[in-house]
Amino acid sequence: MASGSNSLIWFRKGLRIHDNPALHHAARCSDALYPVFVIDPRYMDPDPTAFSTGSSRAGLNRIRFLLESLVDLDVNLKKLGSRLLVLKGEPSEVLFRCFKEWSIKKLCFEFDTEPYYQALDDKVKKYATAAGIEIFSPVSHTLFNPADIIEKNGGRPPLSYQSYVKLAGEPSWATSPLIIDVIWLPPVGNVGKCPISDEVPSIKELGYKDTSEDEKTPFKGGESEGLRRLRDSMANKDWVANFEKPKGDPSSFLKPATTVLSPYLKFGCVSCRYFYQCIQEVQRNCKKHTSPPVSLLGQLLWRDFFYTVAFGTPNFDQMKDNKICKQLPWKNDDELLAAWRDARTGFPWIDAIMMQLQKWGWMHHLARHCVACFLTRGDLFVHWEKGRDIFERLLIDSDWAINNANWLWLSCSSFFYQYNRIYSPISFGKKYDPNGNYIRHFLPILKDMPKEYIYEPWTAPMSIQVKAKCIIGKDYPKPVIDHALASKECKQILYEAYELNKRLNGNLSEDDLKNLR
Ligand code: FAD
Repeated sequence: MASGSNSLIWFRKGLRIHDNPALHHAARCSDALYPVFVIDPRYMDPDPTAFSTGSSRAGLNRIRFLLESLVDLDVNLKKLGSRLLVLKGEPSEVLFRCFKEWSIKKLCFEFDTEPYYQALDDKVKKYATAAGIEIFSPVSHTLFNPADIIEKNGGRPPLSYQSYVKLAGEPSWATSPLIIDVIWLPPVGNVGKCPISDEVPSIKELGYKDTSEDEKTPFKGGESEGLRRLRDSMANKDWVANFEKPKGDPSSFLKPATTVLSPYLKFGCVSCRYFYQCIQEVQRNCKKHTSPPVSLLGQLLWRDFFYTVAFGTPNFDQMKDNKICKQLPWKNDDELLAAWRDARTGFPWIDAIMMQLQKWGWMHHLARHCVACFLTRGDLFVHWEKGRDIFERLLIDSDWAINNANWLWLSCSSFFYQYNRIYSPISFGKKYDPNGNYIRHFLPILKDMPKEYIYEPWTAPMSIQVKAKCIIGKDYPKPVIDHALASKECKQILYEAYELNKRLNGNLSEDDLKNLR
C-alpha cells in the first residue's frame, strides 16, 4: 500500500508531455505520481467482420496509432524518471481500485466534451469527491472552453462559423504562455496488487490481426512523430502563410496537401495551443498571410467551432431529436452502403478514396467531401449516420465532434444547405489528377487503364479493357448507379423534404418521412 501525497494522472486523450496542464498539476507537490492509461474494451472491436456489421468501434489502424502513441508516451515519461501504467477494463472500476490501492489524494485528467466521457467523468468525480480526492480537470483539448462560448451566446451554441469566430474573439487560453515543459516527475509509487501491464500491449494482445509492414498506414502515432510533423510543416513558412482551404490537391498522396496533424490532435499527441502559437509565430514574421476561415489557423477554429456545437447540442450524433438536423427521408439500402464501404461503387474516384480510408485511415478533406456527398445527398441517398459509423471505425483521426459535424454538413442536414451543389464522382478528381495516378495507386486493378477512361472505365471499348487486363463487370464493378439520374433524383427529394421541413417547422413524423421516400 502506498502512502503520502500521491497523485494520479489519468491519460485518455492528451497523450503528451509538452504543454500538458493536467500532467503539470499532477506533478506538483506530489510524493508519488501514477501515470495511468486504461484500455477500455468499449472502444474496441477486433472482430474482422465488425466492419461489415456496421460496428463503429475503432479498427486496426486507429488502435495501432493509439498503441504507438502510448509506447511513445511511456518512453517520454521514462526520460523524466517515470513510466506509463497500462491497465485494462471499465475505466471507473479500474480507477476506483487504483485510488484505494495507491491512497490517491489528487486526480488530474483533461476535460472531455464527448457524451461518453461526460458521463464517465461525472461518475469518477462523484466517487473521488466522496473519497476526499482533489480533482483537477482542465480544458486543454480545444483552444476555447466550449462552455464559455455557449454561455456568451445566451446558453446556445452559435451555429455558424462566422458568428462563432466573432463571439470567441482572441482565445485567451490559446495565446497564453505554454505550460513549461516538465523536466522531472515524481517517482511512480508501489503499484501493489493492481494488475499493471509491464509494457504497452501489442495489437495482437488486444485481439486485432496485424498486417504486414507494407500494408500499414504511413502515419505513425505518438508525440515525437506529431511534433516532428508539426515542425516540418512550420519550416515551410510560405506554405503556412499562404495556406488556403479548400484549395489544395486531394489526390496528392505522396505528399499530402495539408499537415496530416489531425490524428495527433485527436489523441492530443500535439497540443492545439502549441500548434496555434506556431502558426501565429509564422504569421507575425511574414508580410502577408491568409485568414480564417481558409487559413491554417482558420482550420483550428473549425475544429473548435464543431466542438462547441457538438457539446451544446443534445443528440448531436443522430437525426432523431436533434434540433439542428434537418429531418430527411434517407433510404436503408444495405447493398449500396456495402458497395460504398467496400470500394465497389464502380466509380474509380470514389472507390480509390474509400480504399485510402481502409488502408491509411486518412484522406484529404475534399476527398472526404466527395465520398460523403456521394453516399448521402449526391447519389446513393443512404443515411449519413451509416457513413459516419464507417468513418468512425476506420479513420485514424476519428473524432466524435468533428466527424458528426462534417457528416451533418456534407449530407445537407445542418450547417450547409446548398443541396444543388453536388460533387461529380467523375469530373471532380479529374481536375486535379487527369492521369489518374491516385486511382492507379489505390486501385491497382485499374493501373493499366488508359487515362481517357480511368475515371469512367465502363465507357472503354472491350479491346481496351482486355489490353488493360480489367474487364468491367468482372474484374472491376460496373457503376452502381447512373450519376446523372441519381443526383437529379436526390435533388428532387431534398427539395421536397426541405419544403416540408419549412412547413412543419422541422417536426416531421416517421410517416411524413416515409411519404417523401
Ligand atoms: P489541415 O488542413 O492541416 O488542418 C489542421 C487541423 O485543423 C486538422 O488537423 C484538424 O484538426 C482541423 N480541421 C481541418 N479541417 C477541419 C474541419 N473541416 N472540421 C474540423 N476540424 C478541421 N477531422 C477529424 O479530425 N476527425 C474526423 O473524424 C473527421 N471526420 C470528417 C468527416 C467528413 C465527412 C469530412 C468531410 C471531414 C472530416 N474531418 C475530420 C475534417 C477534415 O477532413 C480533417 O480534419 C482534415 O482533413 C485532417 O487533415 P489535416 O490534419 O491535414 O488538416
